[in-house]
Amino acid sequence: MYQYKGLEDTIAAIATPAGQGGIGIVRISGQEAITIVDKVLRLESGKTLTASTSHHVYYGKVVFHQSQQILDEVLVVLMRGPKSFTAEDVVEINCHGGMTVLRSVLEEILQAGARLAAPGEFTKRAFLHGRIDLVQAEAVSDIIQAKTESFLRQSQYQLKGELSTHLNLIREELIKLYTMLEALINFPEDGIDAQGHQQIVDRIGIQEKNVNKLLSSSKSGRILKEGIRIVLCGRPNVGKSSLLNALLKEERAIVTNIAGTTRDVLEESAQIQGIPISLVDTAGILEPRDLIEKEAIARSHLYIKSADVVLLVLDHSQPLQAEDMALMQQLKTTPVLVVVNKMDLTPQIDISIPEQIFGPKRVLKVSAIHSVKDLESKIVELIDVQKDFDSHGMMISNIRHIKALEAARENLHGAYHLMNEKTSFEFVSEEIKAAVNQLDAITGRNIDEDLLDRIFSEFCIGK
Ligand code: GDP
Repeated sequence: MYQYKGLEDTIAAIATPAGQGGIGIVRISGQEAITIVDKVLRLESGKTLTASTSHHVYYGKVVFHQSQQILDEVLVVLMRGPKSFTAEDVVEINCHGGMTVLRSVLEEILQAGARLAAPGEFTKRAFLHGRIDLVQAEAVSDIIQAKTESFLRQSQYQLKGELSTHLNLIREELIKLYTMLEALINFPEDGIDAQGHQQIVDRIGIQEKNVNKLLSSSKSGRILKEGIRIVLCGRPNVGKSSLLNALLKEERAIVTNIAGTTRDVLEESAQIQGIPISLVDTAGILEPRDLIEKEAIARSHLYIKSADVVLLVLDHSQPLQAEDMALMQQLKTTPVLVVVNKMDLTPQIDISIPEQIFGPKRVLKVSAIHSVKDLESKIVELIDVQKDFDSHGMMISNIRHIKALEAARENLHGAYHLMNEKTSFEFVSEEIKAAVNQLDAITGRNIDEDLLDRIFSEFCIGK
């Protein structure tokens, strides 16, 4: 197990979100957790927490350390290690909600000998005590930050250890291969025949495929976590704001029939069929009239570059105009869906032109004021993630995991070819060892302290 300093002291933090609530929780973890709480807690039973049974809830009062005056009426949960979240002694004090009360209780606990916890330190301790691995620890953070139910479900699989199990299966097989190769290096007289040689090649190939399978889910995983970025563009008055509102299902952008009302870039979040999306309405301006508009146009271009899909909006009730043509030319190499809006009005547009430029599958007629259902389905179809959402397959969404898996794939690819070309076993075994190291970095078996601190610092305090 990884050796880490700083586990000796007892940590405390407010575990519930800032603001007012019915209750708020102060959480304490560490060797001294119970004795520290005893200094400021008076249980109704007259007993101390030290003399009380674990995994029970107790009623009592928190008092000011100095004056012994009552601070709050509380319920206290006692969980002795190792059967606790951190695997240490943990006490959770359920106070009345409200930051003043919670801060005062925390202050008393700190006065009594605890140290204020750093962000993610409770989860970090659970990891350091081997209760969960790093992948599971990261899942805790993901669960807290989950924007959609589908991502929440994925994070829960991860917390249950499904990704870790997948990784460990690959790792075990690689260790077997590594041991076998090392034996061949050290005892060359034992040798292997052509068939045995081929078997090793095949076994490496299978593990390369397994890593690849995990990686292929990363596009969907990223979308589940971060969402699809959709950028709306088009000349003024074609109905961009109306489409944005229809997709968001609320009146956000100002809709008027005066051309050029949306002067700056608007960004909003929503969900389409369980997929988080971020919608950006760009300024519908081509020729800037002032500096603000110039700036807005520059920003629009940046958004277009980073988009997963650009919705180029055209007006069904008007012939194509020079500005439409210019935009179509500009967006030729971008992932575009042409949305021909206002289909409820008499057609004036020549739809064959966008169809020729982008292909008929990339052109869709809609009416923002009637329904955008077809548009929603088309967006999901274009993004091509739906099938992964329905299955219970494992999805990789964490960029740290993706990078390590990519490196492991590279190593295994190298090992496969080296073995196939009958290169000396030393080189093959080196590549396999490097792949194992990459997998170990994901689960946290071998990870340096700095990286660990960086990972946990992204957590919120109290978690
Ligand atoms: P933007 O400048 O591209 O954002 O356009 P707006 O969303 O502000 O819309 C301009 C005008 O077109 C408004 O009067 C809208 O009510 C109208 N409009 C938008 N979509 C439709 C549609 O599908 N059908 C009809 N008939 N009018 C629409």
